[in-house]
Amino acid sequence: MGGPAVNKKQDDIILCQFRELELAYPELDLKKTPKGSWIIEGILRFKSNLNGAPFKSAFKIRLIIPPNYPEMYPWVWEIGDRIPEDYEHLFTNKSFCLGARIVVYKKFASDRRLLPFVRNQVVEFLSQFCYLMEYGKLPWGELSHRYGTLAHYQEFFSITETRKVLGMLKFLADNRRKNKFDGRIHCPCESGKRIKSCHDVQLREDALCPNHIFRNDIYTILKGLNDDDRRDVIGNSKVIPREYALKLEEEFRIKTDAVKGDKKKGEQLSFNFP
Ligand SMILES: [Zn+2]
Repeated sequence: MGGPAVNKKQDDIILCQFRELELAYPELDLKKTPKGSWIIEGILRFKSNLNGAPFKSAFKIRLIIPPNYPEMYPWVWEIGDRIPEDYEHLFTNKSFCLGARIVVYKKFASDRRLLPFVRNQVVEFLSQFCYLMEYGKLPWGELSHRYGTLAHYQEFFSITETRKVLGMLKFLADNRRKNKFDGRIHCPCESGKRIKSCHDVQLREDALCPNHIFRNDIYTILKGLNDDDRRDVIGNSKVIPREYALKLEEEFRIKTDAVKGDKKKGEQLSFNFP
């Protein structure tokens, strides 16, 4: 133990937060890998209620606490072979897709502790899986609404065109100054109005989130586009020029390598442009 890589303050935060988590879920253990990452592993036993259906269940889970915790929330896996590998709401590396990244981030940012993260987001995810197994459908009906990154932003910005949503996300991804941008510049939604009389509130709220969320979300959206939207965005658009798309591709490759160590496989991030 010891050495320059040890972050004493972060260790204290994690140890303290784990004590609180352990009171609610005593079958979870905290350990540190030889490389210095914190991992929480064990049985998560919970009771919950979805659409009036009470659930009692237990899953064997693993949480990997990211190096920049509590700036970012932990990654979560189910390791007891109950959730099939092809379950729709898993990332490529089989970690839980707890919802649209920005929504998960904002929920976590409202209370950066392990207990609320596990009790609300992880237990909710697992309850939904239980509900699906029991009733053959998810409790909220349409999946795309709940999980779709694009759908989230369409609703949040009240914009339907994918191209315009991406323009907003590009603005947020490029903004390095938290919410201190000039409200007099033209709004990236293409309305022709200045930000201060257009999407000021939404942009300032989202601009408090880390830039990489928006870069990842642009990637998620680009990956899910249908051919028409892809042409509109990559081929003809002035909003996301090809150079920017290529730059993004480069950035994601770099990012993939950077996170590989901790995420094990890492999400497979690669672009296929027409
Ligand atoms: Zn606007």
